[in-house]
Amino acid sequence: MDPRQLFIDKRHTGMCVYCGTYPDTGDHVPSKVLLDEPYPLELPVVGACRRCNASFSLDEQYLACFVDCVICGDAEASDAHRPNVKRILEDNPALRYRIEDARKRDEADNLLWETEADRIRNVVLKLARGQAAYELYPKLEEPSIVGFAPLQILSDDRRFAFEQVAGGDRIGLWPDIGSRSFRRAFGKSPDRLPFSGGWVVVQPDRYRYGVVETGGVLVRMVLSEYLACEVVWDC
Ligand SMILES: [Zn+2]
Repeated sequence: MDPRQLFIDKRHTGMCVYCGTYPDTGDHVPSKVLLDEPYPLELPVVGACRRCNASFSLDEQYLACFVDCVICGDAEASDAHRPNVKRILEDNPALRYRIEDARKRDEADNLLWETEADRIRNVVLKLARGQAAYELYPKLEEPSIVGFAPLQILSDDRRFAFEQVAGGDRIGLWPDIGSRSFRRAFGKSPDRLPFSGGWVVVQPDRYRYGVVETGGVLVRMVLSEYLACEVVWDC
């Protein structure tokens, strides 16, 4: 078997990676709203149906804006770091007010943000399904874990463990033969995305992910070097 070749298992293509129906279209993972222009030369694309492709857009917009607002400390369009977010906040005052409303102060005057956890979970799971399908194979079933938290609140030990996506104690488990993950393990990149320490860097400081075959599948993602996300399928 030549590890330089990509042999996508045909059982794993020809379906929407989010719901399993016929894929009318291709979906970028991550969606461009989570990235900045100029976009990377090559973005992962997976099969998706039109309904799924459209159904995540509002939650993805919310998450992109929410993360940038938390990093900036307010929900003013003029303060947004990211041009995409600035544009969305200008065009969508309802979303801006909603995020502004989530900004609270506790009794000690510390800034707190109330998350819309269901919407964030929806996007995190969608992204993980996309990355798993791109690197290994689709995972349509419900995962056992969908977690997300700011990187900065992880203890040193948890942060260290989170960053380990390159095998570690999982040595001996090989990615599916011929998958993109398999090719990366052999140092033969299947695309033009930088790969380092188990992480695929889609855009520096904006989005990186790692996918590990564990007997199940583990997907980790970091958005804007702020939001650490983890999704686990046990088998
Ligand atoms: Zn679908």
